[in-house]
Amino acid sequence: MATGRIQRLRRGVYGCAHVDEQIARAATIGGALTCVSVLRSHGVWAGDSLRLHLQLPPTSSATQDPSAQFHWARPRFGLQSPWEVTPLQSLWQALHCLDEENAIAAMESAMWTGFLRPEQIRQLALHAPRRLQDGIRRMVNNSGSGNETIVRLRLERAGFTVVAQGHVPGMGHQDLVVDDCVGLDVDGRAWHEGNDRFATDRDRDVQAEGLGRHSLRIRTAHIFRTWPHTLAVIERAVADARRDRERRRGRVIVRFDDPF
Ligand SMILES: [Zn+2]
Repeated sequence: MATGRIQRLRRGVYGCAHVDEQIARAATIGGALTCVSVLRSHGVWAGDSLRLHLQLPPTSSATQDPSAQFHWARPRFGLQSPWEVTPLQSLWQALHCLDEENAIAAMESAMWTGFLRPEQIRQLALHAPRRLQDGIRRMVNNSGSGNETIVRLRLERAGFTVVAQGHVPGMGHQDLVVDDCVGLDVDGRAWHEGNDRFATDRDRDVQAEGLGRHSLRIRTAHIFRTWPHTLAVIERAVADARRDRERRRGRVIVRFDDPF
């Protein structure tokens, strides 16, 4: 300790100086890292809250720490160390802690990133709270980000047919294709990670326009701050694209069915 190579975290518990900051806090408080904190540290979608989520034994006394969220429970799916629950337990806890759309986004993200195996996702799905069952039935295995999952769920519930990673000739794929006529690219960054754009996005916008594909690019604020407006814009874009398509189809019919 005198040379700074180890730190005292708690009575009888010492950590290397370089130990992960969240694990060190868990050890200091006497809990295990769980829920969204574990998901986020493994690059899995975890919603917005940046608070530390810690599991404490059901018998432990209440701890005052406003920057942490405590779950007093015996871990159903175990611990992988005294300071961190297993991946299965962390997602199980998050399903109970997150709102519905973020919970489904976390499940798709856990599958897509390989954080859990498909059979583990199925196991959780079977025992998931009832409020998640509709979203679970709508899950796909190729969602590119949590934001994309949330937009897809909202649009499906608004009555649209939505294909994830829909193919567009000449463009590869777009994040979501709505009613087979409007492409959506959804900023995958979480709320707190900023909104920097990449040059490749611009290239795709130009390409989409050249192909006559109706395309929209939406960012995090459009999903979580101004969704009613965003939905109205998407509805308008789909209606316009349908009308354009019918016009084009009309011209083709005249050409082929012309009796003269
Ligand atoms: Zn939690």
